[in-house]
Amino acid sequence: MKVTFLGTGTSQGIPVIGCDCKVCTSPNPKDKRLRVSALLELSDKNILIDVGPDFRQQMLTAKVKKVDAILVTHEHRDHVAGLDDVRAFNFKYNMDMPLYTYPRVQEALREAYGYIFNSNYPGVPMIKFETIEKNVPFQIGETSILPIEYYHGRLPIMGFRVNKFAYLTDFQTIKDDQLALLGDLDVLVISALHHQKHYSHITLYDALQMIEQIAPNKAYLIHMSHYMGLHDEIERKLPENVFLAYDGLQIEVN
Ligand SMILES: [Zn+2]
Ligand SMILES: [Zn+2]
Ligand SMILES: [Zn+2]
Repeated sequence: MKVTFLGTGTSQGIPVIGCDCKVCTSPNPKDKRLRVSALLELSDKNILIDVGPDFRQQMLTAKVKKVDAILVTHEHRDHVAGLDDVRAFNFKYNMDMPLYTYPRVQEALREAYGYIFNSNYPGVPMIKFETIEKNVPFQIGETSILPIEYYHGRLPIMGFRVNKFAYLTDFQTIKDDQLALLGDLDVLVISALHHQKHYSHITLYDALQMIEQIAPNKAYLIHMSHYMGLHDEIERKLPENVFLAYDGLQIEVN
């Protein structure tokens, strides 16, 4: 499986509008972060995790020709604001886009996108909800995907495990029964906002503790804010099996 990090920034992205800090003005392309999303290219299907406000730009930049299904972690706008642009794939392949998520997130999307779900307006995106729940693996093509639940502040949200790869964004806490599903990982992707405590995200320090506990072969950090610091400076300080992901990074996972 090939994983492409399409976006690795927190909800505001980096640069932040109007900010003159050293990260937001850095000339290093690795310091420019769109909102989080990842593409999993399997032998038979392309699966997208989250469809945020930068979806259109991400599809164009990575030259993605097809998305077969979308997995949505939760209903915050930085993870779902690109839904309207799914139309391009509806039109090209004449298919409804399967969108796998919790019933609660489906309700939130129906409310936020009334013109898509509650009208007969022509030319709107065609979305087909597929309901998933924690601990119950589901199948897309030849691939089995396991939803794993954890907490983002007090909000239960969904991460995904595919074979020895797991993706947990907007992470804060996890119960033991779900943590137990994260054993024997080759690659763990987990969010780390910055260095200061936050009410719904973990810090870099906490993310490193979590990585030590889960003990994957390698870990990649996502959902960083500009307060995290310069990519190259921070990455030098990390343990040798932990990396800051950056937009456009591609990795192979078995
Ligand atoms: Zn987020
Ligand atoms: Zn800044
Ligand atoms: Zn969130």
